[in-house]
Amino acid sequence: RCWAESKLRPELLKAVERAGYKTPSPIQMAAIPLGLQQRDVIGIAETGSGKTAAFVLPMLNYITRLPPLSEENKAAEGPYAVVMAPTRELAKQIEDETVKFAHYLGIKVVSIVGGRSIEEQAFKIRQGCEVVIATPGRLIDCLERRYIVFNQCNYVVLDEADRMIDMGFEPQVVGVLDAMPSSNLKPENEDEQLEGEKIYRTTYMFTATMPPAVERLARKYLRNPVVVTI
Ligand code: AMP
Repeated sequence: RCWAESKLRPELLKAVERAGYKTPSPIQMAAIPLGLQQRDVIGIAETGSGKTAAFVLPMLNYITRLPPLSEENKAAEGPYAVVMAPTRELAKQIEDETVKFAHYLGIKVVSIVGGRSIEEQAFKIRQGCEVVIATPGRLIDCLERRYIVFNQCNYVVLDEADRMIDMGFEPQVVGVLDAMPSSNLKPENEDEQLEGEKIYRTTYMFTATMPPAVERLARKYLRNPVVVTI
């Protein structure tokens, strides 16, 4: 098991090395190559498995392939990727883990969670950021006030999806997903050819359990997901 096998781009491998991660964990070995191929993934994994880096690294790898946010439209077009998590504490952990690598790549990360000034968060979004890490309630609030748009958001992560559902966030999660361009969803029919040049939405869902509401989300918003169980 070594990082070179993960097929991450050289600048990502460098960031991983600088972060001091000597070898990838099993969930990282399994999930990262799938994310790099823009396959949708359902990860059944617990905290402590290294699941955060398993979705953060392919997400950052994807962003480094895109043009830098332009001065004129960075606020008008919105972030390239969004991660939703059930609690502020978890959002903070994901932010820390993302910044660990993003810092070396010049990628900006903004967290949008309750309990802090929404105007301040709106200001940061207007200044431009590639990645947003959010709790669903505050994110939907920002959407409704038009502080954020998802015109170019094609990388989505739902972390601890079962807990988000348990906490009653299904409508907010659905509201956010429905605010993204549906033109970039992969075709539902597995046999349909993907267009070579087009960017499709990649969706990662991590969950410890699969209650019906989580399955509903997966069926509606994920396309031919690969289930990774560690
Ligand atoms: P997570 O399961 O994502 O909450 O990660 C648990 C902890 O393991 C976090 O503190 C990470 O920074 C750390 N970690 C994740 N992947 C690796 C790795 N490949 N090598 C060393 N530490 C890691």
